[in-house]
Parts: sequence; C-alpha cells; structure tokens
Amino acid sequence: MSSEPPAPTNLLTQPVQFLKGVGPARAERLHRLNITTACDLLFHFPRAYEDLTDVRPVAGLEEGKIQTVRGEVVEIDGRQLGNGQPVVTVVLSDGGKVCLEGVWFGRTHAARRFRYGQRVAFSGKPKWYRDRWQMTSPRVQYLDATTDDGGNSVVPVYPLTEDLRAEHLRPLLRRAVDCLGDLVPEILPDEVRVRRALPGVRSALEQVHFPANLAEARAGRRRFVYEEFLVLQIALAVRRRDLRDRRRAPVLPVTPQIDAHIRRLFPFALTEDQDRAVADVCDDLAGDRPMQRLLQADVGAGKTAVAVYALLVTVANRHQAALMAPTEVLARQHWDTLEGYLARSRVRRLLLTGGLTARERREALAALQAGEIDLVVGTQALVSEDVQFARLGLVVIDEQHKFGVNQRARIRRLGVDPHYLVMTATPIPRTVALTVFGDLDCSTIRQLPPGRQPVKTRWLTEKQRARLYPYLCEQLRQGRQAFLVCPLVEESEGLDVKAAEQTYAELSEGPLRGLRLGLLHGRMDEAAKAEVMERFRDRQLDLLVSTLVVEVGVDVPNATLMVVEHAERFGLSQLHQLRGRVSRGSVAGECYLFTGPTLTDETRERLRVFTRLSDGFDLAEEDARLRGAGEFFGTRQHGVGDLRFGDLIADRGLLEDARRDAFAVVAADAGLKRPEHALLRQAVLERYGRTLDLAEIG
Ligand code: ADP
Ligand code: MG
Repeated sequence: MSSEPPAPTNLLTQPVQFLKGVGPARAERLHRLNITTACDLLFHFPRAYEDLTDVRPVAGLEEGKIQTVRGEVVEIDGRQLGNGQPVVTVVLSDGGKVCLEGVWFGRTHAARRFRYGQRVAFSGKPKWYRDRWQMTSPRVQYLDATTDDGGNSVVPVYPLTEDLRAEHLRPLLRRAVDCLGDLVPEILPDEVRVRRALPGVRSALEQVHFPANLAEARAGRRRFVYEEFLVLQIALAVRRRDLRDRRRAPVLPVTPQIDAHIRRLFPFALTEDQDRAVADVCDDLAGDRPMQRLLQADVGAGKTAVAVYALLVTVANRHQAALMAPTEVLARQHWDTLEGYLARSRVRRLLLTGGLTARERREALAALQAGEIDLVVGTQALVSEDVQFARLGLVVIDEQHKFGVNQRARIRRLGVDPHYLVMTATPIPRTVALTVFGDLDCSTIRQLPPGRQPVKTRWLTEKQRARLYPYLCEQLRQGRQAFLVCPLVEESEGLDVKAAEQTYAELSEGPLRGLRLGLLHGRMDEAAKAEVMERFRDRQLDLLVSTLVVEVGVDVPNATLMVVEHAERFGLSQLHQLRGRVSRGSVAGECYLFTGPTLTDETRERLRVFTRLSDGFDLAEEDARLRGAGEFFGTRQHGVGDLRFGDLIADRGLLEDARRDAFAVVAADAGLKRPEHALLRQAVLERYGRTLDLAEIG
C-alpha cells in the first residue's frame, strides 16, 4: 500500500541547539532534562499549573489559597535578621488602606529585581502578619504599564534542572510551538478526534504550554493522554487479534460426564463466581481459537480450583496441560494441591523442578515429548527451549506479578498454540488490568468461599507487643499456627537474612521459648526451604519466622495468625497477600502489624486503609490512588513501558474510551492499512513494535 506517511520532518528531530536561543550551554542543560531534539522540547510538559487567575484587591485576600494582587511597589527593604540571615521585603500597594508585603529570606539579590513605583503582581498564599498581608517568596510578574494584562494567567510549572529557569524555558517553548507546532503529525484519525472532542495536535500543544485558564490546560493535556492510551490499546488490540483470531488451538469440549467427574474431585462445591469463571474458561476451550484469559481473584477466593478444572478438561480431551508457577516452592505447592485432588486418578503427572538430577530431567523431558505425561507442573523453566510437548493443549500461568506481556510473547514461540489461562496473585484495579493484561479476556472471582471470615487486622504499638507474645503462646499451645514475617531490607538480602535470624533467635530464647519455631529465608536452597515448609504444613512447627520468601502463595489452612514486622515497608497488595495466608480455613484469621519508629503520613494512611478494608479489589483501587498506578504495578516490567502523560487511575475514563476506540479501529481495519490509520500505525510500531511482537501490522 502507498499509505506510508511522509518522512517525519527533520526539523522536529533536529538537535535542540539548532533552535534560536539555544547555545551550547543551554543545550547542555536541556540534555539534563532529557531534551535533545526540538520535538523533545515541544513534549516537555508542565508537571503542574499554578492558577493565578484569582486576582483580588489586598482588602479581599483570604488565608490558605493562592491569590494574585496587582499593585505598585512602595517600599523595598533589605536587612539582616538576628541570626544573620538576610531578608528582603517589598511592599505593594493597590491604593487601599492595607498593604501586601512580599518577603524573601536568604536572598539579598531579590531586592535588585524591583524599582519604586513599578507595577507588579504578586501571587502566593497570603498570611496576616501584624498589620498587613504577607506572602513568602511570592511569584512575581512585571506588569506592562500600557496593557496591564499580566497577573491574570495560569502559569505552567515545568520539571526543571537547577540552572534552567522557567523564564528561560518559556521563550524557547514559545518559539518552538510557533515554528514547529504545525509540523507535528496528527496521528489521531479525524473521526475519533471529533467524536471525543479533542483538540488538534497544534492547539493542544498551545493549550498545554500557554493555557489561558486551567480548563484549557486540562483539555490540551487530555488530548495527549488519550493519544498515549489509544496507541497502547491499539497495540494490545492488534496483539489480542493476532493471538486469538489468526491461530488455531485444539478444541477441548466439556461433556456433562467430564464436568461431573471433575467436580467430584473437589471436596467443596464451587462458588457462584468460580462457576462463572469455569463457564468462561469452558467456552474458550471449546472453541478453536486459543484462549487468552486472565483469571483475577481476591486472595483466597479459590482460583486454583478453576485452574485445576481447566487442566483436567484438557487432560480429559487427551491433551497435555502445564501449570507454571513463579517459584519452586509455589510449584511444589500446586503439585501438592493437585496430588490431593488427583489421589485416585490415573492422570499421569510430573513435577519438573530444578531439584531433578540430569538423568531424571532427561527422562522426564523424553516422557513429555512422547506424550506419556498428561499434566506437568513447574516454574518458568518449562518455557525453556529443550522442553517439547507432544500435544500441549493448555498452559496455566500463575503469574504472581512475575510474568509480563513480553514473557507471554516468548512462551507463544514454543511453536504450539495452546490455550492460555493467566492467574494474578492479587487483585489489581481494572484500568491496570486493561493495560498490563490488556490483550487478555478477564474473569474475576471476588466472592470468598462460604464460611470464610475476614481476617481481623490490628496495627499494634510497641507497648502492645508485650501483650501479644503471651497471647501467641497460648494460641499456639492450643494447636494454632503462626507466620511471623520480617521484611526485605532493601539494600541487601544479607541484612534481611540477619534480621530474620536474629528475630528467630530472640523469640526462641525469649518470649516464645518452648514453642517449635522454624526459619525460612532467601539464602536457603530450594530443598531446605521445601523441607521447612513441609514441617510447618505437617504441624511439626508452631511458628514460622521468615522473610518475604514465605512465598506469598503458600497455603497452610491451620495457620491462622500472622505477625508482620515493619509493615510500613510492604505495599498494600503484599500485605493483603500475607493476610490472605491466614484466612484459608473456617477459623477467623488474625493479622498483627508492627511498624518502625518513623512513618510518613502516606504510610500511616496506607496502613489505616489496610486495617479498614478487607476486600482485595477495594484495597487495590485505594492503593493505586495513594501511590499512583505506575508505582503500584510497574508497567515497565510488564513490557508495556512507562506511560509518559497518562495516569491509569486519575485518567481512567479516558483509558476506557481509548480502549473502546482502539478495539473498534482494529476490528474495522485489522492491519491499520487505511490511509487515515497510517500515522497511527507508525506510532504504534515505533512505541510497541519491538516489545509486543506486532506481526500483523509490522
Ligand atoms: P487463591 O485464589 O488465593 O489462590 P486458592 O485457590 O488457593 O485461593 O484457595 C484458597 C483455599 O480455599 C484453598 O484451601 C481451597 O481449598 C479453598 N477453596 C477454594 N474454593 C472453595 C470453595 N468453593 N469452597 C470452599 N473452599 C474452597
Ligand atoms: Mg493460591
């Protein structure tokens, strides 16, 4: 097709020093802000805006919000405080009885910027001080005597380096927008842009950098956020189409006999949510397109049962099924769970871990390749080159946040087209799911099994610690079991291990003497870890002291007490995972948090939220709101890359719109071959062509 867009004009990609007003020194400072080309400069967006449109007479000022006053300089004074610190005050009068005083501490040269009688505007938060209003380091605008239009604006606040000030950046941006704004390609198709009421690229740049008011600034930014989301969602839509519609997978229908047979293996009836998820999965498996499904569940809501159902449907249809866990301990645990369900079954199964000898491994692989194994459980190692399957029908990936979009791309290159079911360990907000798992269909299990009680969560002070230990002793003597989690020390795993070892030693000789304590940490080899877990599961240990390596998914129904040290160092989703460990049985779990001596307000808020909310999905939304979605769930590690403009939580409405539009575009024009999609296609390929394997449009 001759739909290739015109070559991007090299004026945009020219180095920033070719712009008028940028010499070598300034170019160097711009580089420090990652601005190397003219285009980078255009897209160096403000991180915030100061609204200076609230202009008042001095007499009308109020405390506590940013306001602007215009007036005449009637006094300039520089002096030293008692401690020798210089202070400059400039008094502004607007003709009223009261004056406004601007104060600069430690900055003698501030006085040099003013002349008596000069008309200026001060913006800032005023405070009443003695007999006048005062603003500390107000923002100053010099008013043009003839027009007097200053002091009535929205001022963008840019991420700046020390020696590049806003007053230098703004004229550069003015010139860049004027000269180059029209050259930036408009990648949004007209139809979409008009329907979503988005400004064209040139006016949006104008609005972002030189807004007349906050609404304009928002409208400009919104356009670029939408564009960013649209490009991402198109990439995901293309991938999803590619994964599902262009490939064939084995048809694995569920007969009533198969269904009854599988359900008999569970010692419980599935919950409604589980049944719904099973129905979704069965629909997919019965089709000839590979399932690409995400199974999201609250911690303890029972996603493993759904996975087991899918695995067994596959085996019943004489195909092989694989279950991949992110760690060996979790692989082993899945294995144990399966062993429990399959005790009297003839399903031929294999646990493939690093613990096998070379010979055992060779034999296991040969059996897989010969089709003598129906069901294999393992870690990522299952994806490695030398594992060949005879008739792979289904891969279940227990994601645990560790496999990303790009890893899934790799798995696909195994050369077979099985169905895929991806499970997340912990609930994530919907908009995050639409992004990092945006190429998958989604089933959600929110409901907990009947009789399950919410974990009682308490945040304790050090004083209360002394009372907790006797209580723990008493509970453990009565046959309950407990986890005590010491956090990861960020700088070093070594310190971590030491902290856990020390806690273990102190407790076994001190307050918990006479109880059977175990220790688990990251420096132990897999066999030693597995052995400790085994003993804990067999109730030969009362309490397990561990670092976060207590692989978050471990399932020991009799363990109902959880103590978390330095809870402030864990994220909310981690804490929720940990808490989920003690809500497996019918006895209500209890979770006790201790924190270190210094906590930020944000941390306090997070822990308070945690003690208040027990539903994982609610918690995930709160968490993302508190920390920002990017933090919460590293989009980069999932192959989606960092978002430059958009915020998955704050801009969720736009994300949903963009997703709908993206899927509609791809449904109508799968290869993005139409002329109106040419620039969009190019943008998608530039951004995601490499990471997401977008063969269809490549
Ligand atoms: P998670 O979603 O956290 O992985 P699991 O699948 O490990 O949850 O299930 C948690 C516990 O709940 C397991 O001990 C499992 O046996 C039990 N369970 C799962 N589904 C049900 C159900 N429908 N009724 C009763 N117990 C269930
Ligand atoms: Mg589980």
